[in-house]
Amino acid sequence: MKRRKKVALALLALVLLSQAPFAYRSYRLRRLGAAIDALNAGRAAAAPEEEPLTEYAGVFHVHSFLGGHSPGTLEEIVRAAKSERLAFVVMTEHPQPRLDTAAATLNGLHDGVLFVGGSELVASDGGRLFVAPGVAAPAQNPPLQELVTRAKSESRLAVVGYPEQARDPALSGFDGVEVYNLYTNARRINYATMFFDGLWSYWSRPELLFARFYERPAENLRRWDGYNASGTGRAYAFAGNDAHANVGFALKDRDGKKTLDFKLDPYERSFRLVRTHVLFGKDEPLDESNLLAALRRGNFYLAFDVFGDPTGFRFTAATDPRDASTQGRADMGDEITLPPGGEVRLKVTLPVQARTVFYRDGQVVHEVPDSSLSSLAVGQKGVYRVEVYLDQLGSLLEGKPWIISNPIFVR
Ligand SMILES: [Zn+2]
Repeated sequence: MKRRKKVALALLALVLLSQAPFAYRSYRLRRLGAAIDALNAGRAAAAPEEEPLTEYAGVFHVHSFLGGHSPGTLEEIVRAAKSERLAFVVMTEHPQPRLDTAAATLNGLHDGVLFVGGSELVASDGGRLFVAPGVAAPAQNPPLQELVTRAKSESRLAVVGYPEQARDPALSGFDGVEVYNLYTNARRINYATMFFDGLWSYWSRPELLFARFYERPAENLRRWDGYNASGTGRAYAFAGNDAHANVGFALKDRDGKKTLDFKLDPYERSFRLVRTHVLFGKDEPLDESNLLAALRRGNFYLAFDVFGDPTGFRFTAATDPRDASTQGRADMGDEITLPPGGEVRLKVTLPVQARTVFYRDGQVVHEVPDSSLSSLAVGQKGVYRVEVYLDQLGSLLEGKPWIISNPIFVR
């Protein structure tokens, strides 16, 4: 054999060998996909007559071209929301000096999806504030506390974004914290491995690549739990899709035409990964004021829908039904009074079997494996919430919650 041919063969062997781990990773993702399909196929049908609430799934924290640094058009966003069958989208545009982006963005019903035009405001002392309805550009960026106080005095929803950057330790009065941000999480991606993972998974289910970089936002959860436990105020957990349609990579030919365009966050994919599930009273119509009121009350939960449809998840609390003097019932976000010397029963219902972890003031107090129904009787005041894990989906999702509930405040 000629020397040149030998070298070529050796190189080919090396290239093939280098792809072996990616082929294996792609195989594991295909298995994960099959496990998710089986999970969704085995979902229990909800009993509608018992159900006092209506559930709407949507997304929070979405940008279009209006705020800069996103190439996404309003039409693309409507199309993606419609094809993902979302009930609502909360837009959070960056203000611009010569354009009221909150007014110019999507508002109202489009193709059956409810849009709320909000804003993402920058604080002078670190952190951001999402407000909805949105506002025109402020003349300058005030400190975060001032943004919160102003938004609340104008009855707007006020959610602290990028909490890891908020430096005011005494900050209070806000409605929620963006404990999870898809974009922040995606920045931890190793693009070299993601490139080959992307090639190997591009024609199957690229959204499952999310399982590779998704991490439980432990530090944000810890700080959020701490705020609620301190009694300074009540805040609810939000998940930001932070959808821009600009994360990924493209290969361009000499004329600048894209030959391979692999976006990790086209709107469809981003909308599929993580969602906000809001609970409404049976006869409440889905409109902007009811949606914002439910978000301000914490009547919602976060779920990584890409791993399974969580619709039907409920976390409730009730006092002993035999004792008429202390009757009470609470949903996520609500408060319930602990009867003197008595108990409150926390209950979790799931559409599939999963592991439920109960927290009080940020500490794990109880865990129920493999069940679609779990409960915990508590005789101690505190802020209770749950996280749900799908252990059956394997080690790729180890330590990564499927559902994060909002708390019930036992007072
Ligand atoms: Zn943003």
